[in-house]
Amino acid sequence: MNLAHKIKRQPGTGNIIVLGLGISGRSAAALALRKGLTVAAYDQKNSPELENYRDKLASDKFEINLGWEGVKFPRADLIVISPGIGKDSLLGKIAFGSGIPVISEMEFGFRHCPRPIIAITGTNGKTTTTELTCHLINSLGISTATAGNIGVPLCEALLSPKQPNYYVVEASSFQLDTCASFAPLCAAILNITSDHMNRYADENEYVSSKFSIFRNISSPEGKIIRSDLMQYWKEHVSSKEKPVVFSSENFRADYYFDGTDIFVKGRKFMSFSDTKLLGTHNAENLLSALALVFSAIPGASMLRLREGAKSFMTGPHRLELVLKINGITCINDSKATNPDSTVVALKAVGGHKNVCLIAGGLDKNMDFSPVLGEKNRIKAAFLIGECKKRLANMWKNDISCIIFNSLDEAVLAACDMAEPGDVVLLAPGCASMDMFKDYKDRGQKFTHIINRRFESEK
Ligand code: ADP
Repeated sequence: MNLAHKIKRQPGTGNIIVLGLGISGRSAAALALRKGLTVAAYDQKNSPELENYRDKLASDKFEINLGWEGVKFPRADLIVISPGIGKDSLLGKIAFGSGIPVISEMEFGFRHCPRPIIAITGTNGKTTTTELTCHLINSLGISTATAGNIGVPLCEALLSPKQPNYYVVEASSFQLDTCASFAPLCAAILNITSDHMNRYADENEYVSSKFSIFRNISSPEGKIIRSDLMQYWKEHVSSKEKPVVFSSENFRADYYFDGTDIFVKGRKFMSFSDTKLLGTHNAENLLSALALVFSAIPGASMLRLREGAKSFMTGPHRLELVLKINGITCINDSKATNPDSTVVALKAVGGHKNVCLIAGGLDKNMDFSPVLGEKNRIKAAFLIGECKKRLANMWKNDISCIIFNSLDEAVLAACDMAEPGDVVLLAPGCASMDMFKDYKDRGQKFTHIINRRFESEK
């Protein structure tokens, strides 16, 4: 096992400010306190839950300010900012204008992480690929844990007394934006499409944020991208170096899927049908995970990795089969929170005009026209949420669109229209917070409605 990765670390010293007391802010504060630092935390919000947190944990080493409306922070060595706080928000402006270095929770965790990190970013597929990479390395008999955007912040994972040999970290662009020395052993950018355009000035800024994941990786073997991202490579990384490339279109790629088989550096690795994965996008996730594993652990056992790939299953709310009944297939892809993931869901499960698509949600000003490329798979679109009218206006000439006030109504209407051979697909292409707690809540409600609707026919 090769753990001889030179890790550049600059642990923070002295006082730190933690901005935002959500899950990542709290874990950064906990890690800082564990490291003997003094912490001052600020949150604009105030709630009984936050008050409870303050009453339990505030001490002479840990100052907690809730409902904060101040204009200036005290002196500090470092500000750890939560990914939810944008540069242009009130707190963001005060932080970036303070003259104190501002870093993300992930960067702060990295500075204290004793293990090599394998990092994954992209618009879609991060969680799946993070889990898959972790699963593959574990299948080699090497202990590995996931961290980051996936649910357990890196700082929290580092508090555990038992540390794995590797961390596989899901990195969001918001975390990457405020990284400085973050230096994973290797990293992959899965894909880049329209998302979060409400937080970035333009597409170029978003691309630049994603490519910053490579900033502190010196070996080209450690930089992995999908082949279509070569268009950005020269501008954002280097005109001399070549990255490791994966693709389901370009057979010259180092890691390639030809529609049937997975190839590693020109040699067949396995048949994709031997896995439990569905859709070309998941084959691409497997390619990138393999590229990461071979970069981190050269000479890893092909046999064991193949077994690992065979046993992996994607998590809930990602093309999850809810029910097959009367020839109708109901699928929950609530995690499809941008147009591109709706497109891949349609490609993965749709045939000719057989998808009753439930879409819509929070309006992040994304471009939904790519979905029209799959219009021949869509029987009708059942639209909900904040952006339902914008979607209907954009699609109505090509797709039959119906607008609803609730998920309940939309799902029931989709089930009524579906005939044998059809698919009722929740792939909203939007975030969920306009109507639901989160994408899980949306997916659970969808599952519940489907089960209730077909109760008597089961
Ligand atoms: P993320 O963590 O980036 O949101 P997930 O793995 O949770 O990614 O998947 C989010 C959505 O994107 C799901 O709807 C899933 O089916 C779809 N998806 C997964 N992998 C890819 C990919 N490589 N390209 C496009 N869409 C993908």
